[in-house]
Amino acid sequence: MQRAFEELGSIVGPDHLAVGEMIEERYWHDESLTVAPSRPMALVRPADTDELVELVRWAERRQVPLVVRGAGTGLAGGAVCRPTEVCVSTERLSGVDDVDTVSRVAVVRAGTSLAELDHVLADHGLRYTVSPGENAASIGGTVATNAGGMRAVRFGTTRQNVLGATVVTGGGRVLTLGGSLYKRSSGYDLLQLVIGSEGTLGIVERAILRLAPRAEEAVFVAHAPTMRGALGAVQALQSIEPPPSVIEYLEPSALEAMAHFAGVTLGLPGWALADGAILVVAVERVDADDVARAVELAGAVLEGAGADGVWVLGKTEGRAVLRAREAALWTVRALGARDIVDVVVPPARLGDYFDAVAAVASTYGVRLAATGHVGDGNVHLSVFADDVASARRVVEEVVAEGVRRGGAVSGEHGIGVAKLEEFRTHASATELRIDAGIKRLFDPAGIFAPGRLGSPTHGGD
Ligand SMILES: Cc1cc2nc3c(=O)[nH]c(=O)nc-3n(C[C@H](O)[C@H](O)[C@H](O)COP(=O)(O)OP(=O)(O)OC[C@H]3O[C@@H](n4cnc5c(N)ncnc54)[C@H](O)[C@@H]3O)c2cc1C
Repeated sequence: MQRAFEELGSIVGPDHLAVGEMIEERYWHDESLTVAPSRPMALVRPADTDELVELVRWAERRQVPLVVRGAGTGLAGGAVCRPTEVCVSTERLSGVDDVDTVSRVAVVRAGTSLAELDHVLADHGLRYTVSPGENAASIGGTVATNAGGMRAVRFGTTRQNVLGATVVTGGGRVLTLGGSLYKRSSGYDLLQLVIGSEGTLGIVERAILRLAPRAEEAVFVAHAPTMRGALGAVQALQSIEPPPSVIEYLEPSALEAMAHFAGVTLGLPGWALADGAILVVAVERVDADDVARAVELAGAVLEGAGADGVWVLGKTEGRAVLRAREAALWTVRALGARDIVDVVVPPARLGDYFDAVAAVASTYGVRLAATGHVGDGNVHLSVFADDVASARRVVEEVVAEGVRRGGAVSGEHGIGVAKLEEFRTHASATELRIDAGIKRLFDPAGIFAPGRLGSPTHGGD
């Protein structure tokens, strides 16, 4: 292997290659609760498209798998390498190449973090509306997982906000997909195939992103006596035009734990945290004067829909509550959650789904704490169980209950390796065969993250 590593070093430069014990521990894992850390065979940090092309050719010649890594904030183990795989870190593929304020698009290299992008866009009065809970995430990682987040209910997920991408795929071919275009009816949409493909079809080198104006925001917390009452209020909120940009559902105890963990004082009366259901809602308008009117309207709609308490938060508290919600992962991890389910169901089936989840929890004697981007049907269940085996059984059951109601295994975290079994269980054989065929077209040598999505080992040809 020594010769192969020397070749790698000559592609990316010796300073950007690490092998064996030289690979820092942070490259061994992502933030998944269930995927064990594993040290890659080697780590490379390419700097540009030419180096990516050479890397792919090297991997095909040497028959060594490549697993791309952005910031490693993923929740499905997608960036975790096996000891036989080379980790391709995108950290040097960083920077915002262009901000076009007329077309309202930005051309951004894959390793750029959401935080860095936002910093650049602020100078132009613009923003990128995709905001998964972790702004260290890279643009490439968000494209590869089709990341969602709290604001997807209003602005859509990554799919609706990426207009183009440059992708290095099998054979070192460089695909330029889409463009600074808001519409396109010109053949198969390969860009949409690449979005959400989790590094199994190629390496995203850059993306063209749709931008929006920055806006003023107000945040409030509402309480409803029951879960179904809260879901009714969510429906009512979505009839407002434009609708709220955040509609989050939490069990009161979950809100209390998150606020406590984040050091946020909510100032809510004790009864509101005792039982029932909580909604965290944000409204935003470009014109600050319109925000107060939007808050008034949303408050009236909530009360009309049966909310028995609505508290408008100050700017600082509002931001802190949204941050605490985004950081919920760290709270539930500290409290000992064994897994986080990311099912999405049709919004009309949410009440029914929550009832089914409660029944599963009671059957197995486990605690399933619900939070969720409930406006778009995406439910996150933190699984607290005595042991790994019972957590596993419960996850299988609640995922199956979601799929039975027309839902999907993952709403936004992706499949990675953590959810591969569930994905295989609930996909049809035809779907898996087509997936495998698509992967072969992009990646005939099978070097991009084999054994994950599109791989014959998970049920394709
Ligand atoms: C506290 C916290 C809260 C979160 N909240 C949310 C949330 O609300 N919504 C949400 O959607 N996600 C959420 N996430 C998950 C996470 O932030 C996203 O999955 C993110 O999109 C991954 O980006 P990354 O750069 O960290 O990717 P990584 O974890 O490095 O990789 C993720 C996957 O993408 C692939 N990949 C990475 N870069 C590329 C590339 N350039 N080309 C091809 N493939 C690539 C990897 O191989 C892997 O399969 C949260 C994570 C944390 C830690």
